[in-house]
Amino acid sequence: MTETVVTRFAPSPTGFLHIGGARTALFNWLYAKAQGGKMLLRIEDTDRARSTDEAIDAILDGLKWLGLDWDGDPIFQFARAGRHREAVEQMLASGRAYRCYATAQELEEMRATAMAEGRPPRYDGRWRDRPASDAPADRAPAIRLRAPQEGETVVDDLVQGRVVIPNKDLDDLVLLRSDGTPTYMLAVVVDDHDMGVTHVIRGVDHLTNAARQTQIYEALGWSVPKMAHIPLIHGPDGAKLSKRHGALGVEAYREMGFLPAAVRNYLARLGWSHGDDEIFSTEQAIEWFDVGQIGRSAARFDMAKLSNLNGHY
Ligand code: GLU
Repeated sequence: MTETVVTRFAPSPTGFLHIGGARTALFNWLYAKAQGGKMLLRIEDTDRARSTDEAIDAILDGLKWLGLDWDGDPIFQFARAGRHREAVEQMLASGRAYRCYATAQELEEMRATAMAEGRPPRYDGRWRDRPASDAPADRAPAIRLRAPQEGETVVDDLVQGRVVIPNKDLDDLVLLRSDGTPTYMLAVVVDDHDMGVTHVIRGVDHLTNAARQTQIYEALGWSVPKMAHIPLIHGPDGAKLSKRHGALGVEAYREMGFLPAAVRNYLARLGWSHGDDEIFSTEQAIEWFDVGQIGRSAARFDMAKLSNLNGHY
């Protein structure tokens, strides 16, 4: 029996649903539909200072307007912090994580030395092997992953191909901050595992995170979901997408009079193609869509093309 495909869209509610996020949601939705699977919606609200209710509403409204539905209720990541801590307890017990008492000043010194030597900042592992008796009584520890130091971490990406990162380039990342809050890197792994996510489809800006998350999966003895890191969306001039060229919230497109079917059709074509077909229905996109056909080069967003397409709907 083949397993049921489970994808997820996992926005951080720190702003509106922009066009890149809408395309990520669409690809997750299309793939789930194409495979007879499910798409979950996980609101990654662990950054308490930057997450807002307005942003949550804007994301839900934007998805609804685009006609992208999700299975079950939205999952709020912050509510699962207890479960994230439980996973850390498991790693502490198996020796795959350790308590780090480095002070902010020590970390800053490590960063400054690295910068002066022209290399990326890196935690030097100074608490990896210290006995519990060295623990200062006046300070709460952060919990770090005991990352492998030899060999390499491999991400077999459905879009980017085989990505190999030498382990010496990945330091012992923080899993729990000293105030007990889980980091994004940990929360994503625990949530994707617990929710049975089979395919992680997201922007290529998360590719280095994928290697670090792979190390966390391995430390927990869990299998890694399939990954598909999709190219970024640039402006028509090939530069980073600016507001003038379309980096707007989905609601701005609604207000400009674009039709959801046209926006769906246009977004589906950003990074994915089906022969020379430019205009197709959502049913056709579902029938044809496959993550393996997503290209690697950055897609170019062109408002004129979207307007043109809108005229066909
Ligand atoms: N919450 C992350 C973001 O909005 C995405 C995390 C993920 O897809 O793994 O960039």
